[in-house]
Amino acid sequence: MSEKLEGRVGLVYTTEDCIGCNKCIRECSCMGACASTEPDANGKSRIDVDGSRCISCGACFDTCEHGARAYIDDTEDFFRDLSNGKRISLLIAPAFLANYPEDYAKVLGGLKEMGARHMINVSFGADITTWGYLKYITEKDFKGGISQPCPAVVGYIERYIPELIPKLFPVQSPLMCAAIYARHEMGIMDGLAFISPCIQKKMEIDDPNNKGLVQYNVTFAHLMAYMREYNLFGKPYNDELEYGLGSVYPMRGGLKENVSWFMGEEAFVREIGGEKRMYSFLENNKENIKEGKTPFLFIDALNCENGCLCGTGTEEGLYKTDKALYNLCSIRASSMKEERNSAWAKSLTPEERLRNLNEQFSHLKIEDYIREYTDRSNECRMEMPDDKELEGIFLDMNKEDEKSRHINCSCCGYATCRDMAVAIFNGFNHRDNCIHYLKDLVAEKAHLTDMATGLPNSAGFDAHVEVLENSGLLKNFDACHLNIRNFGLINEHYGKEEADEVILRYATRLKSMLTGDEFIARLLADNFICLVRKEHIWEFLNAIKGLYFNMDHGGKEENIFIQAVAGCLDLDGTYRDGESIKALCANALRTAKTGNSHYQYATLDMWEKILKKKHVLETFPRALSNGEFKAYYQPKVDTVNNTLVGAEALVRWIKGNKVIPPSEFIPVLEEDGGICELDLYIFTAVCRDIRGWMDNGMDPVRISANFSRRDLSEPGFAKRLKDIMESYDIPKEYIEIEITETATEEDNGLLSRFLKDMHNAGIAMALDDFGTGYSSLNLLRDFSADVLKLDKSFIDGHTNTRRDNIVLDHIAQMANELDMSVITEGVEQWEQVEFLKKLNVNLVQGYLFDKPMPEEDFEKRLKEKVYQKGDPEKKIEKNA
Ligand code: C2E
Ligand code: CA
Ligand code: CA
Repeated sequence: MSEKLEGRVGLVYTTEDCIGCNKCIRECSCMGACASTEPDANGKSRIDVDGSRCISCGACFDTCEHGARAYIDDTEDFFRDLSNGKRISLLIAPAFLANYPEDYAKVLGGLKEMGARHMINVSFGADITTWGYLKYITEKDFKGGISQPCPAVVGYIERYIPELIPKLFPVQSPLMCAAIYARHEMGIMDGLAFISPCIQKKMEIDDPNNKGLVQYNVTFAHLMAYMREYNLFGKPYNDELEYGLGSVYPMRGGLKENVSWFMGEEAFVREIGGEKRMYSFLENNKENIKEGKTPFLFIDALNCENGCLCGTGTEEGLYKTDKALYNLCSIRASSMKEERNSAWAKSLTPEERLRNLNEQFSHLKIEDYIREYTDRSNECRMEMPDDKELEGIFLDMNKEDEKSRHINCSCCGYATCRDMAVAIFNGFNHRDNCIHYLKDLVAEKAHLTDMATGLPNSAGFDAHVEVLENSGLLKNFDACHLNIRNFGLINEHYGKEEADEVILRYATRLKSMLTGDEFIARLLADNFICLVRKEHIWEFLNAIKGLYFNMDHGGKEENIFIQAVAGCLDLDGTYRDGESIKALCANALRTAKTGNSHYQYATLDMWEKILKKKHVLETFPRALSNGEFKAYYQPKVDTVNNTLVGAEALVRWIKGNKVIPPSEFIPVLEEDGGICELDLYIFTAVCRDIRGWMDNGMDPVRISANFSRRDLSEPGFAKRLKDIMESYDIPKEYIEIEITETATEEDNGLLSRFLKDMHNAGIAMALDDFGTGYSSLNLLRDFSADVLKLDKSFIDGHTNTRRDNIVLDHIAQMANELDMSVITEGVEQWEQVEFLKKLNVNLVQGYLFDKPMPEEDFEKRLKEKVYQKGDPEKKIEKNA
């Protein structure tokens, strides 16, 4: 039993069989009477009953599939006291005869033999109740009231709708009327035991308002179990008082039938029963009932759907059929009399019957048969959270949006998420009982875990870093990104499946090398990231240099050696989130892979680069749509006659009055995407400019545009270029495409196709930066380009050595033989021009003539075309 409920035990309690399924919460008539205990170490909770809130309506018994509810009555005390010789008389509920027509007399006989004294059927008390009700209705004009033989109804009103207490009939129930009669009229001073269909009757019996008239509530179910267990049946014996239609009280509508018997069929009694319907009926109609605005003579309210015949203390097996009701029908028939002086004479009119009834009980004083009620609402108040409190609870339940607050699946037992939140607010439940909260937790956990190794994944690393950062512990660690240097070989040798096994083994080994609060997560493939304590990091880094494993390969034990490379970061408090830690470590790892050491610590410089890169990626899309990128033009000159023969378009990012050079953003866009969009944008700008010059009557020159190798993998890229040219109606001789040769060969297929495509379309192609990559000569062999663009480095500084002469001379000759023209870029000095001229390389581009310039300036060059002979220095000055 939970601490919270200790000392608040009622008649109903939860047994060890409870599995915490919440079904009882769903059926419970009183919010909070079924309350979930805090989950135990295994996350399990059970549903306890709060005795002060519970009205013993029995709904949880009916719904529980686990037999996890039991109740307290006085059966054991009764038998103990009886066998100890205590004087006890019996008040027997009429439902007992209906339920056990065969055993009725044998039970009474058995009890008689054990010493029970009087045997009074409570039907007789019911007749008195009817008499009292009618007296109140006819003499005191008590209309629109609520019947009260059912202690669950009384209990509910006393606890939850105390404003209706004045509407409860002040007349005692059949049980109490029988008891009062026995005491007052028959002078019975024995203890009284009620043979009872109902758990709740104990509440009525124990109610101080009823002054200890009855001592024992002996329910049918417990009584019969006891009788059978000890075989206590005796010689048949019968109850001793004759009674009338009070015998039909236990059936649904019994009271109504009694009233009609005396007041005629027109008397409108609103009859309502069943836990679910009854209490919501009272709640929904309380205003009208309170104000006396209902048209009913009174409301006959019963907790149990089928009346007391199938009350909460009866045996379940019996009420599955209507058998008890069949029995009651024959009892009812025998209750009706022929004698004309009887209140139960069929032949009389209702008025005559009522006269007889009043006559029968004329010696009784109504004051002896009335009762009082107690407002118990204070013991079971429920607090309603205000909006802010409710919001807090929802957030705690991970319910952040409106949708998640209206799932209303009722798995928790409550009809709505809001009800659950209110229950949590009042301590009746807790968020772990919300299936969606748990699902989210599981999903979150799955989301943070690498399925193959069971280690946390990248997101798990971030989450862990956040926790450490929040608790100020992060700075105790160094982060360390590990990559298996020889994983390619392992993959090749073992195949994918066994290589996966290697990863798993390696992960386990790494984990075993970490101690205490150190941490490891798996990133993609053969990458791990660890948080290692600073005092342990050198030992760790030393160990990961090389680790041996035994692997079973094709039935043979093999020894494998795993070497790791590490990119590390000192978590000194500058880097606070998982993302930036990972980015920096990855950066350091890249350096480590190319360096001599097997590890590398990230530097401040790397961090700045990362920040810049982040900034570029974040601002690029906007900048592009804002038109911040412009094409600048750098002239190409034929040094034979110093005329302008072409130009290269070079992108500039104009940010306010700042001009950002391509080196700051092109590599980022090439690596992380965006370059293709930018190149097409600049190419379009070039075509637009050419179209403008043509329309203005100028004679344009050929403009080369730069394309990244990344562009070529875009499907249909060549076609898009042609489409743009077509849309501006640009003659193909005005366009040249510059592609940089690269050191990788993997996209040579793409390059080859692109070059062919362009060649067929008659568009000139230039191989840019020729001589800087090491596949240059292969390229010349494999691809047909139109222009070779010699990199600046060819002529930098050393333009007079014999070696330069030979190399350049041969390249120029080779190009000539392959029908390619040669241009040199980065020409800054007149001597370089002279040198190139000797090698018959007459096309140049460089600061000697012009720097890249905006379109407006370039337009002037287009008009002049010829550079002042002998005065190039001046130009250099002018454009510097
Ligand atoms: P690149 O295609 O080799 O362009 C030549 C670079 O050399 C240009 O730098 C140009 O300004 C510079 N240059 C020209 N003459 C001289 C000189 O006499 N001395 C020196 N020191 N430099 C000279 P820029 O404009 O900064 O461009 C750098 C690189 O950015 C380009 O190299 C190219 O690879 C790339 N790039 C520029 N625009 C684009 C573009 O629209 N698309 C693509 N994909 N890449 C571009
Ligand atoms: Ca270029
Ligand atoms: Ca170049």
